[in-house]
Amino acid sequence: MQSIPSQARVVIIGGGIVGCSVAYHLAKRGCSDVLLLERKQLTCGTTWHAAGLVGQLRATLNLTRLAQYTTQLYEGLERETGQATGFRQVGSIAVAANDARFEELKRGASMARSFGLEVQILSPGAARERWPLLAADDLVGAVFLPKDGQTNPVDTTQALAKGARSGGVRIAENVKVTGIRTHGGRVTGVATEQDEVRAEVVVNCAGMWAREVGGWANVAVPLHAAEHFYIVTQPIAGLRSGLPILRDADACSYFKEDAGKLLVGWFEPQAKPWGEAGIPEGFAFDQLPADLTHIEPLFASAMHRVPILEQAGVQVFFNGPESFTPDDRYLLGEAPEMRGLYVAAGFNSIGIQSAGGAGKVLADWIIDGHPPFDLWDVDIRRCMPFQRNRRYLRERTVETLGLLYAMHWPYRQAESARGVRRSALHDRLAAAGACFGEVAGFERPNWFAAAGTEPRYEYSYGRQNWFGQAAAEHQAVREQVGLFDQSSFAKFALKGADAARALGRICANDVDVPPGRIVYTQWLNERGGIEADLTVTREAEDAYLIVTACATQTRDFSWLCRHLPAEARAVALDVSSAYAVLGLMGPRSRELLATLTDADLSNAAFPFGTSRIMDLGYARVRASRITYVGELGYELYIPTEFAQSVFDVIVGAGGPFGLRLGGYHAMNSLRMEKAYRHWGHDISDEDTPLEAGLQFAVAWDKPGGFIGRELLLRQRESGARRRLVAVALERTDRFLYHNEPIWRNGELVGRITSGMFGHTVGASLGLGYVANGGAPMDPAWVAAGKYEVEVAAERVSARISLRPFYDPESERVRC
Ligand SMILES: Cc1cc2nc3c(=O)[nH]c(=O)nc-3n(C[C@H](O)[C@H](O)[C@H](O)COP(=O)(O)OP(=O)(O)OC[C@H]3O[C@@H](n4cnc5c(N)ncnc54)[C@H](O)[C@@H]3O)c2cc1C
Repeated sequence: MQSIPSQARVVIIGGGIVGCSVAYHLAKRGCSDVLLLERKQLTCGTTWHAAGLVGQLRATLNLTRLAQYTTQLYEGLERETGQATGFRQVGSIAVAANDARFEELKRGASMARSFGLEVQILSPGAARERWPLLAADDLVGAVFLPKDGQTNPVDTTQALAKGARSGGVRIAENVKVTGIRTHGGRVTGVATEQDEVRAEVVVNCAGMWAREVGGWANVAVPLHAAEHFYIVTQPIAGLRSGLPILRDADACSYFKEDAGKLLVGWFEPQAKPWGEAGIPEGFAFDQLPADLTHIEPLFASAMHRVPILEQAGVQVFFNGPESFTPDDRYLLGEAPEMRGLYVAAGFNSIGIQSAGGAGKVLADWIIDGHPPFDLWDVDIRRCMPFQRNRRYLRERTVETLGLLYAMHWPYRQAESARGVRRSALHDRLAAAGACFGEVAGFERPNWFAAAGTEPRYEYSYGRQNWFGQAAAEHQAVREQVGLFDQSSFAKFALKGADAARALGRICANDVDVPPGRIVYTQWLNERGGIEADLTVTREAEDAYLIVTACATQTRDFSWLCRHLPAEARAVALDVSSAYAVLGLMGPRSRELLATLTDADLSNAAFPFGTSRIMDLGYARVRASRITYVGELGYELYIPTEFAQSVFDVIVGAGGPFGLRLGGYHAMNSLRMEKAYRHWGHDISDEDTPLEAGLQFAVAWDKPGGFIGRELLLRQRESGARRRLVAVALERTDRFLYHNEPIWRNGELVGRITSGMFGHTVGASLGLGYVANGGAPMDPAWVAAGKYEVEVAAERVSARISLRPFYDPESERVRC
């Protein structure tokens, strides 16, 4: 055992590639008072046995950027540290055996190329030229990334550790951390088998142990180990050295040439969770028993793609555990439950290729107190407390390993561990034909199947089977009235004599309004970036109801609590489960509601942007005139136990008004026509209200100011350098999802952030940012361009507008 200091600014738990990368990058930023504690030896957990593939193309722009950085880092690490890494930039080829897979690859290629990642689209023949042992006859195409590589995970980790040590970091092996010390919601240090170590910051990089380690501080780190299999062949005569990595996702297989042999690994659709009763105490450089029955069918598909495997003998059958998260994205950032406790874990089989980027941005996050750019995809604040549940994790893990190579269909829904959180109306909606999607464990109707048909997705990149149903739901809302179950909304109560003052600092808009008023507002960070996008209803002088999206429940509540001044007489409570929410939306919503309440619903008595408690059926509900679909409508906040009776009276009365149940796909189409922004896609903590076109919701001169005002004032002075615009494709057979490049007069000027077909406008719509090479944005410049959007490597003409395509004056909302 090495002796360890009693104090360090940062303690890192875990000496895998991720812990070492965090240490390395902290040192690079000049933070050298860092102690890394490893219970056994560096790399002894999952890192040592990784296949070492270092790919760059990920599902989203920022994750691709991080993987790209990793490649650049590994490329120079040996030069920098003198420690060999085994990194070789051999490139990679991903092949497609069907049109849908090729579309997926081409969409990724378009996204990657738009920010300078080298990528080529290949014919099957060209792929075979680069990989001569490939059976290419049944292929449709391929994508080649010349800068992808492979590395030796142990040596690369040692190089990162060496770099960290030379920057002043202390690394102690054979020191097991046994507890996390906290006080008043902050970490204060760790307990180890030797001594206690005081620390301002503790970083949980404990790989598949990270859930247990987080649990010591009551922090949810939802991950579960699964078995991951590969084989290494005997030497294969004629196998060319330096072959690119080969991925055949349709065969669940990857292939890596190494020293004249092939390493072949799999991401199979039904994985084997491991370690549910805990990781054995002595686990170090261990492997799990081979399971030939499990890999036999996988082996057969690999042989189909690379027939020489039929003759090659197998030298190694390898099976090792790796941790997986419920949504297949890693967990990064400061835990919402505990200040100073950071997490970098759950790498879903891409920890080697992600470690460089993840370590860098986490070091920035620790030192600067915020992420360097939008990292919502992997931010640990997306997790819900229930996701620590072991049964949930075990069941979901069966599916998540395979998702790595499964088709990443638009709107794809998880198939395992479903039905976790259900609205009070769930059974009624199911009986009406709802096809549910899941967000943060919450089952929400995405669309309603026609009578006699199955509420089941048939996925594609084009019109999916629900297109017509969602169109009819959309039309009902535009022309008559629709009913949405929006119970999954997160709701927070803020009460107390100082509530208005404290909330006023947090909100960019003015929330010191008379009781009964609703305010649409953003919460900004000091950099002017949008941390949250929500509505605030003043219920009384000293009481607010804050409503936000289901997906951001943890994040937004944590932001609220952390920004209430300690001395403020105000208390925040998460009341999400207390209320069901129904959205009654459409031009006939008032008429319908009038049959169920004696409240005065006239525009004069109950205008847009106000909220009332009223009788409805046998209940008392809060009705708020607000909309996310761009029509006259009411959000009804109903104490949960009244939800069913209220739903029944509305549906019972709805027939004569053309009432139709609506799902989230229709809602998305409706909001897209109105260019209503969606936090997490169109707006994030790196976008300001000026860039997002939301300055109408900024109360510049309200008393007391607000967080982010100074930055925003400067930006208003100098002019925003990018602007969110509404986009409509000229073709109706192509669909926008995210990250599609936007071209103006043949020059790349931006990307799509979200997309959906607009049934009233009759076009494939999207929102996205455009920029004029760093010049202040000028509406005339936006209007003057000729635009195209690149969809799967093909450019499609588009119209662009600074205003919504539907009802730009919002007359229908206010009528
Ligand atoms: C078979 C296989 C092949 C793979 N191939 C690839 C690939 O080709 N490319 C790729 O990108 N990824 C690959 N991966 C995934 C990759 O190996 C992992 O994502 C990565 O190694 C995770 O690194 P880590 O640092 O998070 O975890 P680990 O390497 O497991 O490190 C965690 C460390 O924490 C230590 N620890 C735990 N608890 C404590 C405690 N209480 N006190 C002190 N220390 C503690 C452990 O001993 C361990 O060393 C593969 C994984 C497997 C299983």
